Amino acid sequence: MKIELLPALTDNYMYLLIDEDTQEAAIVDPVQPQKVVETVKKHGVKLTTVLTTHHHWDHAGGNEKLVKLEPGLKVYGGDDRIGALTDKVTHLSTLQVGSLNIKCLSTPCHTSGHICYFVTKPGGSEPPAVFTGDTLFVAGCGKFFEGTADEMYKALLQVLGRLPPDTRVYCGHEYTINNLKFARHVEPSNKAIQEKLAWAKEKYANGEPTVPSTLAEEFTYNPFMRVREKTVQQHAGEIDPVTTMRVIRREKDQFKIQAGHSTSVVPAYGVTDSLLQQAGF
Ligand SMILES: [Zn+2]
Repeated sequence: MKIELLPALTDNYMYLLIDEDTQEAAIVDPVQPQKVVETVKKHGVKLTTVLTTHHHWDHAGGNEKLVKLEPGLKVYGGDDRIGALTDKVTHLSTLQVGSLNIKCLSTPCHTSGHICYFVTKPGGSEPPAVFTGDTLFVAGCGKFFEGTADEMYKALLQVLGRLPPDTRVYCGHEYTINNLKFARHVEPSNKAIQEKLAWAKEKYANGEPTVPSTLAEEFTYNPFMRVREKTVQQHAGEIDPVTTMRVIRREKDQFKIQAGHSTSVVPAYGVTDSLLQQAGF
């Protein structure tokens, strides 16, 4: 499989997933439809599928326009609030994009209908990929807008955390540097965090994305994946992983406010207002 990362809006990522055997493709969260159409044309592939992680406008907001530009698309998602939805999926629903198998994973919490998409190539010759939307970020997780710490614990540890360790993680936003600064605050002695932060700063300076990571890596530096670790529990002053999850998420929400500046790291290739207008915003 080939995955092309398409920066969108200020810090979102869309992903074009191509099955190289059949040249069939899917697009994840196409918030800027025109950019999607141009990329599809550039690759000369057949776009058949839209995979929507959740209903927030910066993920699903381009669906209606994209199906007008590319009629006949199948639009998958787990929430009736998603525009142009043709196929509603639930936990463990499966679909195909060419020869690629896609398994839908229900991960409610950021939104109640959030779906992550786990992609494998039959034969196991290449590592799997998972599109995690706003559930799992590199070194972080999404805000609990419509769910509980218990649900995020299940999503991160029991659903995503049980996928193969070499699974590539493609998340919905470029939030890595700020996430790692919070991770360092939680675990000041964690070497993996320090190394990943230095690496991410270098990437950012070069205008390059920090995506993908792997699940194995996330377990070394992501505090929300590490709520079973003593160090993270001690920081939270708790001994239970779910309560630890609740405490550090609440702290992270405050951490951003205390930092007193922008909550997200805007990639060097951020888009202009005119592009936003093109995207319909
Ligand atoms: Zn969201």
